[in-house]
Amino acid sequence: MKAVILAGGKGTRLGSLTADMPKPLIAVGGKSILEHQILLLKKYGITDIIILTGHLGDQIARYVGDGSRWGVSITYIQESESQGTAGALRALPERIKEDFLLLSGDVMAHFNVQRFLNWHNSRTQAVATVIVHPSNHPMDSDLVEVDADMKIINLLRRPHSPELLFRNLGIASMYIMTPAFFSYIPQYGKCDIERDVFPRVLVGSGALYAYQTPEYLRDMGTPDRLGRVRKDYSAGTIAAQSFETKRPAIFLDRDGVINKGGNGVTRLEDMELYEEAKQAICRINSSLFLSIVVTNQPVLAKGLLSEEGLYQIHKKMETELGKAGAAVDAIYYCPHHPKRGFEGEIAELKIICGCRKPEIGLLTRATEEFNIDLTRSVFIGDSTADAKAAENAGIRFIGVKTGNGLQDGTYELAHTPHVVPTIADAVDQVLML
Ligand SMILES: [Mg+2]
Ligand SMILES: [Zn+2]
Repeated sequence: MKAVILAGGKGTRLGSLTADMPKPLIAVGGKSILEHQILLLKKYGITDIIILTGHLGDQIARYVGDGSRWGVSITYIQESESQGTAGALRALPERIKEDFLLLSGDVMAHFNVQRFLNWHNSRTQAVATVIVHPSNHPMDSDLVEVDADMKIINLLRRPHSPELLFRNLGIASMYIMTPAFFSYIPQYGKCDIERDVFPRVLVGSGALYAYQTPEYLRDMGTPDRLGRVRKDYSAGTIAAQSFETKRPAIFLDRDGVINKGGNGVTRLEDMELYEEAKQAICRINSSLFLSIVVTNQPVLAKGLLSEEGLYQIHKKMETELGKAGAAVDAIYYCPHHPKRGFEGEIAELKIICGCRKPEIGLLTRATEEFNIDLTRSVFIGDSTADAKAAENAGIRFIGVKTGNGLQDGTYELAHTPHVVPTIADAVDQVLML
């Protein structure tokens, strides 16, 4: 596979820093962003790299050279006049006949390229797949709307209406493109991948997919952001957030922990978050812990709520969290219920499964999909099913007094759980604030 790096941006928002130095050459931890990207590509066996240059492109070529010092081969395509991120790709069709990785040269990124590629390959209709991740200011970010398979169905441009319910998925400007993408680029003029070409794909016959990852992808387009990236780099945060490194997780039960209503929510208007939960999840987000929701939703088996209804309820949760600058990394739910014989039930979901807590199926799935270190992980819940699931998985448990407050008596526990007032206290104890 070939990789293409967009390195023609002007970086005007970085002021004097980029007046005489192109953005991709700005150093983080003694290496330019470009060098970090080349090393990442090399690690995944991608050695054929094309750099698209514009502003101060000769400096980039001089500094980076032919790539031989990293064991890769680099060629350049220099633009005489900026044609935008999509316009810059017009030079590629004669050189690239297969899928390729496209990186923005001003994003500090450490992600598992193979995992991204596998995801893309499993979506055979994809004209392009783009990496998405939660924004900590979604109300003034462009977002994508996706279906359950992560196919992009709409592009939501800022500013957003205050009533909008959204998935908090911002575009991280890293892509896998297929050659079919080229045919959507307008033939002339300056044009941008997301603003001008993605809408053309959406109305055309091709499909765009979003790939979500909790890994580190941060642009350094302003002095503030650059400062943040440098700080994260020296703290080791960037590598520690990669899928290559096992991370601990805080598993969160949903009902009675994040939102009110310990016994399930079936109506959108009843989805109401605890204020403490927003702040607590924010604090998890600035730690190395993943935040993973694991929830029993027997309301699906009972026919009280549809999958679509649940999706909307989770969208509301994501919206409320997003407005507070918080995001959960994933939501795993069990739709099953074991007891048959009720009116309106969905027979195929009325089964004894391995995912309904206190079974640990949801935890096991999350652990595999996110490369989680269970020995350092914690479960925060409000019911004995949560506490028992934590016991069954052999992980630490902290109970909360909200919701069922561990008073439901459904399961007998080997240990009396440690119980604190709210999710905020529980998270503080885990993070030892
Ligand atoms: Mg609960
Ligand atoms: Zn289940």
